[in-house]
Amino acid sequence: MPNPLVAVDPSCMDDFDPSSLLVEQALERIHALAAPVPGIERVAIRETLGRVLAAPIHAPADVPAHDNSAMDGYAVRAADVGGDGPAVLRVLGTAWAGRPFPGPVGPGECVRIMTGAVMPAGADAVVIQEKARAGPGGAVRLDDRPRAGDNVREAGEDIARGAVVLDAGQRVGPAELGVLASLGTVEAGVRRRVRVAFFSTGDELRSLGEPLSDGCIYDSNRYTLFAMLRAVGAEILDLGVVRDAREEVERAFREAAAAADVIITSGGVSVGEADFVKETLERTGEVGFWKIAMKPGRPLAFGKVGGALFFGLPGNPVSVMVTFYQFVQPALRRMMGEPAAPPVRFRVKCASRLRKRPGRVEFQRGVLGYDDTGRLAVRSTGGQGSGILSSMHEANCFIVLPLESDGVAPGSEVDVEPFGGVAGAGA
Ligand code: AMP
Ligand code: MG
Repeated sequence: MPNPLVAVDPSCMDDFDPSSLLVEQALERIHALAAPVPGIERVAIRETLGRVLAAPIHAPADVPAHDNSAMDGYAVRAADVGGDGPAVLRVLGTAWAGRPFPGPVGPGECVRIMTGAVMPAGADAVVIQEKARAGPGGAVRLDDRPRAGDNVREAGEDIARGAVVLDAGQRVGPAELGVLASLGTVEAGVRRRVRVAFFSTGDELRSLGEPLSDGCIYDSNRYTLFAMLRAVGAEILDLGVVRDAREEVERAFREAAAAADVIITSGGVSVGEADFVKETLERTGEVGFWKIAMKPGRPLAFGKVGGALFFGLPGNPVSVMVTFYQFVQPALRRMMGEPAAPPVRFRVKCASRLRKRPGRVEFQRGVLGYDDTGRLAVRSTGGQGSGILSSMHEANCFIVLPLESDGVAPGSEVDVEPFGGVAGAGA
């Protein structure tokens, strides 16, 4: 990916902080530390849904196992029906799906056949029943000139025996579950779920069910995090709300590090007087604190505490979701054994005017849909404050504006990143 700083003179970007990392640099550093977790579990086929395969799946047999009919009709020898005018053949019997016709088909003969039924020996094509008229004495008149193979599904045409059907690192979704079942797979090896411990920090946070006193808010980050972690298939350890006190934050760090592969916190990551995440990471772990040239989402703390990877996300609810999708989710997917996959982005016309200052990448919230002319276009959800969580609810994509952009005029093209990656949830 080209470094946008090479192409742009940072001095004309009033909002660029030279001490901040580019999004790509932050991703590289995260990827360097996010290795697949050890441990494989053999689970029953339904339990593989949403999990990541630990080893490739080979086909033990052809799928389908036999040549079979793709249509209802008559199984014929194509050579018998090739002449001028309709052919009249003798019907020997019927081949049903799951109940093959036992005998061979000889010259001048055919077999009534249903979709999915095994092709009888000797027959090599199926004439659809719309082109057939039953005649007297078990004969049928066929008004068609099929070539060998017409309306026949060949053995192995879906999956050939011995082929690698699913690679190691493949996440199992509905299609993969069906493919596994079609091979007769009863159980499969999947990677252990990544264990993620998370907590919110903030004296103002109240848990659901508690009354709200002056200046307090309900803790919503633990719920968005729960949902995003569930969607990505993590094992979840919710450590609740931690007060803005040095000892309590440190205790929570140690508890989380002892139990989890990954620790996620939200809030308390700036340099305010009640922000203890940065200094606790420095004291109990490694690496440190970043400012990332992005909005929303700077600042972000990243590092290790003991053996656990640490993500200190900002407190603002939209920032939590943006940084999770951009940094945490790819790391978790890697740790679960999936291959790295850059987010899907494409350019579309933007119907709204977007305000932006140069110097940071912005992940604005957009609604992708069709404009009056039937063309795909994106519009802004409106207010882009990082506390406006309803913007994420209304949106179905991020509008990704590059570092140097100074805003977008209606009608220009922008990059969008649709939500809907893992398990249909999230970006
Ligand atoms: P902080 O980074 O701790 O200064 O938090 C930034 C903003 O996000 C403040 O307005 C906080 O009240 C808000 N915030 C922090 N944590 C949460 C949370 N768990 N749920 C909802 N809002 C939060
Ligand atoms: Mg706080």
